Amino acid sequence: MTRTVYVNGEYLPEHEAKVSIFDRGFLMADGVYEVTSVLGGKLIDFEGHAKRLARSLSELEIRKPMEDEALLEIHRELVARNDIDEGMIYLQITRGAPNDRDFVFPPEETEPTVVLFTQSKPGLADSPAAKEGIKVISIPDIRWGRRDIKTVQLLYPSMGKMMARAAGADDAWMVEEGAVTEGTSNNAYIVKGNTIITRQLSHEILHGITRAAVLRFAREAQMKVEERAFTIEEAQQADEAFITSASTFVMPVVEIDGAQVGQGAPGPVANRLREIYIEESRKAAI
Ligand code: PLP
Repeated sequence: MTRTVYVNGEYLPEHEAKVSIFDRGFLMADGVYEVTSVLGGKLIDFEGHAKRLARSLSELEIRKPMEDEALLEIHRELVARNDIDEGMIYLQITRGAPNDRDFVFPPEETEPTVVLFTQSKPGLADSPAAKEGIKVISIPDIRWGRRDIKTVQLLYPSMGKMMARAAGADDAWMVEEGAVTEGTSNNAYIVKGNTIITRQLSHEILHGITRAAVLRFAREAQMKVEERAFTIEEAQQADEAFITSASTFVMPVVEIDGAQVGQGAPGPVANRLREIYIEESRKAAI
């Protein structure tokens, strides 16, 4: 099926959508993005994604091209036009396309480039991977120092996924100064008894929208939450491990660097949090 995508004010068939070769996103990874999930044709946590987008843009001094209400309309229009029941909406905003390549930012009046497209993923909520759990390996975190900004500089995370695949695993957790920062495209957690442990917010990790929701639900369910760094060794010895992201929700991790975590199967805390997250997100979807 030919998707309808959105580019700079127009809805177009995907093969007709075009961006300039001078676009700063293309030449310099000078852009930010968001991924919002769709369940039952509705958007999960749109408000959180819109807020983080505004922050990413502001930190990079990229002009915010439209109000949240207008962005919401585009999201909804794409869901409707592409008949998305379960899946994701990808949104990217770059500093725009001046008429040449230059390290210096283009003039103020340069219009940011705005691109959105849908990804249909039937079965997103009822994922077979969530029933089995995933395997991760550890790799050094060599990304830049502002990982709290959701930029399109995804080469290293992409290489990390390939390293995981080459090692027979599903994903990689990145390690800096002996402690896990986060997964290539997700936040990382361990569980010890009734306590959920995940790294504290800082410039070192992305402030996951799913992370915020899951920690809120965990506290509401009387689980203890500790926001602190942990090592791979501590994770290997934990009762459970899991990751969160907009596209995987809560996903159990059953093996880390070849060592089985807990019973080597999804644990009760991760399973329960996944259930609560999906249920509550469906209720609040817009
Ligand atoms: N950390 C990184 C590096 C990510 O790329 C992502 C999502 O893409 C996340 C964490 C999870 O963020 P969210 O829950 O907002 O999807």
